[in-house]
Amino acid sequence: MTDTVCGDLISYDNHILSRHSSADTARSLVCNDCWNGLFARGNFRDIWENLGFFSSSPKARLYTYTSTWNQIEQSSQGGCNWCTLLVSTAKSDKRYNYPHDEDAFFRSFTQTFTVSFKPPSYDGKALVGAQLICVRVGDYELISFPLYTSPDDPCADEVLARDRIYRMKSTETCRLALEHLSHCINDHSACPKPSQVRPLPTRVIDCTDPERPRLYITGGNVNGSYVALSYVWGESQPHKTTQNNLDAYTREIPTDLLPQTSRDAIWATKAFGEKYLWIDALCIIQDSKVDKRQEISKIPAIFSNAAFTIIAARSSKVSDGFLQDCPPPSIPIRPLPFPCKGDPTRFGTMYVEQNSLGGFDDNGDVHDPVNKRAWCLEERLLSTHAFAYTSTTLRFYCPMTRISINDAVRELHDLPTHRLNIEWMPAPEEEHFDPKEETAFDYNRRTTLWDNIIHNYTGRTVTQVEDKLIALAGVASRFSTRWKKGKYMAGLWLDNFQHDLLWHVADGNQLPRLESFRAPSWSWAAVDSQVEATKLQPFDPPLYELDKHVVQLESDILPFGGVTAASLEMRVRLLKAEWRNDGLYAYQPQVTGSNKSENESKIYYAWRDTIEVCHGNVWLLPVAWSTRSLDLWGLVVVPGEKPREYRRVGCFRDFPKWISKSNVLELRLEPITFI
Ligand SMILES: [Zn+2]
Ligand SMILES: [Zn+2]
Repeated sequence: MTDTVCGDLISYDNHILSRHSSADTARSLVCNDCWNGLFARGNFRDIWENLGFFSSSPKARLYTYTSTWNQIEQSSQGGCNWCTLLVSTAKSDKRYNYPHDEDAFFRSFTQTFTVSFKPPSYDGKALVGAQLICVRVGDYELISFPLYTSPDDPCADEVLARDRIYRMKSTETCRLALEHLSHCINDHSACPKPSQVRPLPTRVIDCTDPERPRLYITGGNVNGSYVALSYVWGESQPHKTTQNNLDAYTREIPTDLLPQTSRDAIWATKAFGEKYLWIDALCIIQDSKVDKRQEISKIPAIFSNAAFTIIAARSSKVSDGFLQDCPPPSIPIRPLPFPCKGDPTRFGTMYVEQNSLGGFDDNGDVHDPVNKRAWCLEERLLSTHAFAYTSTTLRFYCPMTRISINDAVRELHDLPTHRLNIEWMPAPEEEHFDPKEETAFDYNRRTTLWDNIIHNYTGRTVTQVEDKLIALAGVASRFSTRWKKGKYMAGLWLDNFQHDLLWHVADGNQLPRLESFRAPSWSWAAVDSQVEATKLQPFDPPLYELDKHVVQLESDILPFGGVTAASLEMRVRLLKAEWRNDGLYAYQPQVTGSNKSENESKIYYAWRDTIEVCHGNVWLLPVAWSTRSLDLWGLVVVPGEKPREYRRVGCFRDFPKWISKSNVLELRLEPITFI
């Protein structure tokens, strides 16, 4: 994208203007109207010094002026950065009805522009993130973009944010990153403090000499500080630790054999001033089933006890590495004059990145490979502190903040995981939770939280299909401790069973059914698709009776891990139905002769679990009535191989027209085994 500023091209390397911006330089950034209007010292200082918490807040001072889009387009062509910011944002904003191709007549209408500033967020102790500049056109909020400047700019003491960090392999970058960590440790009262005594994992990599790393076998009874690595394998790793090379690796791990991501992690560990590093491929004996099972059960503790986690968010495979410089932003950057406080001849330069996402340009990061890998969700959620090498910059995560290093320009809206609200899931000892005192709010909170976790998690891929439940075991275990939930059954919570049973696969996302057993059909872990939860609502008591539940664990040391068999002994009401090309039809029970179409009823919402074709009849298994919407929710099941055995093939919502809430209970209860 090319952007002209006063005839000059803004280049990535040199987009920060001269350090001592004179009034002349400042003057050249905008047109006459803007210089004498919004950027006139008195007008600008008035709104800058009276920034409000919302642009509509009565406390925020506003600066209002009128112009026409024709006039602004002209000034933009003449090189005014402010007018360019307005017109190019308005043109690219699909919700704003910019008179593009219409007669210039429409662009000659007088518009009212209202400008104000918003403060950065406050984390309880310090301001974090960036101040925002906001513009309304009439009633429409067109702009709410963050500002930044360079550290040596005259306005640096007033404009808090800086440009993003691009240089990843730099000790200065690591130093800046550690400032965020110590700010968290010292000033975030809600964030857990790293304990002095932390057990080192069974094996760690000693990075004292990054050129000659070696495996240090602690046996699990040595305390110390270490860093954990979260990354995407993306390909096989030939030089992982095996029973054969274990001994040799304790003397030295040949770095030239290691994939770039592991080498980068060793470099970063040393640069962050830490000695030990944990990487799964090197710290778990990869060809030992026993060791794998044992160490996998410790992964939750390994990530939550680490001093911090390094997340190689940007690398899609282990040979990619993550310390390359980040690419320049693809969005235009507009330098604008900033009349500094005090000396009336002093002007600084503030920069605004024109961003159609309203300032939250983390879209690139959302698609970072680490957000697609199942294991990385747990590693992220269980890490108390993390440095994420994303595709745009280096970020810091703690339970209270998600921020770019250097207080860089953007506040982080960590879209893939922010709805998982890990701060709702603090370490168990911090907040006492008594299920007997659970309020409706708490119920909604934990249910929504779990639903969001499952939705996010099932959107990721597992390399080993059997890992589906295992890679979430640590999160489930932490969730169980925090919320003191009842039994966990292949991904569902027994004390919220009726809600948890009603997951569905959105239309169009269905995939083939798995060939081998991984989870019972009633578990989301039985399908490969991303699943959606029932929209949270109060339900009447369940329409089934659950007599017995059996879950056979794959391994006793992983109580939240994989299962080898699971079944439910239930008494249920079944309604005959048929899945046709155009939908799911329920038949009225005991039809006698009469016209079939009068006795069948199309179910409004019906979701298949997989693309499997269900020949012939299926059955509706009512789960519950929603108290609010008066809908019946339930599952679609088919007979299994054994008598009275059924398995799930779908989910439905709506009710056959002849069934009312009052007469559904009259239907006969039948004992079934639900597999
Ligand atoms: Zn202008
Ligand atoms: Zn913190």
